[in-house]
Amino acid sequence: MENEVKDDKLYPMQVVKAPDQKLRILTKPIKKIDQNLKRLTSEMIKLTKSFQDPEGVGLAATQIGHDGCFFVGKIGDGFKAFINPQIVSYGKKTKKYFEGCLSIPDYYGEVIRSLILKVTYQDLEGIKHQETLRSVDAWIFQHEVDHLHGKLFPDKVLEQKGKFYKFTGKDKVGSDTFQEVTI
Ligand SMILES: [Zn+2]
Repeated sequence: MENEVKDDKLYPMQVVKAPDQKLRILTKPIKKIDQNLKRLTSEMIKLTKSFQDPEGVGLAATQIGHDGCFFVGKIGDGFKAFINPQIVSYGKKTKKYFEGCLSIPDYYGEVIRSLILKVTYQDLEGIKHQETLRSVDAWIFQHEVDHLHGKLFPDKVLEQKGKFYKFTGKDKVGSDTFQEVTI
């Protein structure tokens, strides 16, 4: 039997795009993990997977207009939900990523992030996990946790004085082309 979904306004689910102020809120901790949240995160995973070029690897609550502290991401062995995610510590080693976001289509930027993170989160059964994440997993986690604090990747590009690019289409061999732009 299907549980009733309270968040009717979130269906059909769509990705909120910048500069919508819904992307700028500070999310609130999730106190109760219920059927609604399970349904919501499973829809979010489906929506994220529907983005293939560029590939969607994560989606935060704010990106669907929800004010809860959770995201879905392709981390570890596949897509899952991360409830009340927190970064406990950042490793010193960093890497410069060419970063994009489903809420800011066609724009990319250089963002320097920690290569290794210690994190905590709850799963959909409410079980608390503490894990060490590396490379792409750590990168996705940092990007999504930023979303939950109302922060978007161009903020990091500005802070770090990195380069910002606009996607300008495919070349003759089908590779993506970009042009440097100012924010
Ligand atoms: Zn994003």
